Amino acid sequence: MNVLVVNAGSSSLKYQLFDTTRNVVLAKGLCDRIGLDGKITHKQLINGNTYEAEISMPNHAEATKLVVKCLLDDNYGCVKSMNEIEAVGHRIVHGGAYFSESVLLNDDVLAKLELCRDLAPLHTGAHIMGIQGCLEAMPGTPQVLVFDTAFHSTMPKPAYVYGIPYEMYEKYQVRRYGAHGTSHRYVAAECIKLLDKPVEETKVITCHLGNGSSISAVKGGKCIDTSMGFTPLAGVVMGTRCGDMDPAIVPFIMEKEGFTPDEMNAFMNKKCGLLGVSGVSSDCRDVNDAIDNGNERAKLAIDILAYQIKKYIGSYTAAMNGLDAIVFTAGIGENNDSLRADIMKDMEFFGIKFDEEANKNFKRGEVNLLSAPDSKVKVYMIPTNEELVIASDTEKLVSAL
Ligand code: AMP
Repeated sequence: MNVLVVNAGSSSLKYQLFDTTRNVVLAKGLCDRIGLDGKITHKQLINGNTYEAEISMPNHAEATKLVVKCLLDDNYGCVKSMNEIEAVGHRIVHGGAYFSESVLLNDDVLAKLELCRDLAPLHTGAHIMGIQGCLEAMPGTPQVLVFDTAFHSTMPKPAYVYGIPYEMYEKYQVRRYGAHGTSHRYVAAECIKLLDKPVEETKVITCHLGNGSSISAVKGGKCIDTSMGFTPLAGVVMGTRCGDMDPAIVPFIMEKEGFTPDEMNAFMNKKCGLLGVSGVSSDCRDVNDAIDNGNERAKLAIDILAYQIKKYIGSYTAAMNGLDAIVFTAGIGENNDSLRADIMKDMEFFGIKFDEEANKNFKRGEVNLLSAPDSKVKVYMIPTNEELVIASDTEKLVSAL
């Protein structure tokens, strides 16, 4: 089945056309600056032909029409008619408490998604525009929504209810939701295939470390806890986000700096994390370069990140009463071997025998075992593939129609 995977942002639309039968990506691209001046970058992956143009795209519907035009093109397209695009799968950041699995789009689903706006205003608004764009440009093509929060919906209540009056949860749905669930779900499943155990007995910690980072505890194939919270601001320090801190710091800094709630929110999301501590950059590569040049604050930023991840691994091992494997994934997790080594230092207590050489000589884009053959707990680097999960969920739901 040919499935168009769509990841709609407020002014962008990323896409991949998957052939789920052969498990290959036929084409991919990005519509950028939607509603502004408009730019499309498209690549057909069979013959490698590309197309780039600055074209006005007033809205997501126009962007989707342009994507379809590219996919149908004789030179850089890969299908002959619209009918060959059999389904659309949308990446949705927040499904609130309404969605615990992927669903086929209908009016009721769209109405529930509207109710998630409050929880992720920028993302949800953009997703709805992307969905409406596809409905307009490809009427009659079934659409499926795949939620980043769905994988975390199996968390038990003590893991997701905060220590504030219960009415806040009942009235405003203030609770832990988590994020990056599609990525955690993919790498956890890939890891479990490698473990010599029935799924129900497995205990895995997945570390999705990128610009945004989150750690999940996956017991018996199900998420039982995750580091991101009500919003993706919680957990470990990130590129520009502060991660967990004493909540009393919020009113303290607001008062000292004269910040409004919006300004404080922007401060915590955009000025903190690796950028705020190092004073250099939010990008891990720049921070690493600064460390090589002797920058102490850059070193502190990475030391904080490694220490926090280590603590999550410890606490999730306790929560699961054991551990079979740790998985590193996403931009930093897949590429930054020195951070992986920092995290894995002095972890023998947990039964981890980290293989420094395998870690240093890891192969990009492949599954790598980073622990010694006799390590009780396995350590893996597994490249994530959220689009593949979206395409296969979409195929499953649409095939059953
Ligand atoms: P993501 O959000 O998954 O795209 O990850 C972005 C983060 O991955 C940035 O902090 C990058 O610095 C980091 N990253 C990407 N490639 C590399 C690399 N080759 N070495 C170290 N960090 C990398």
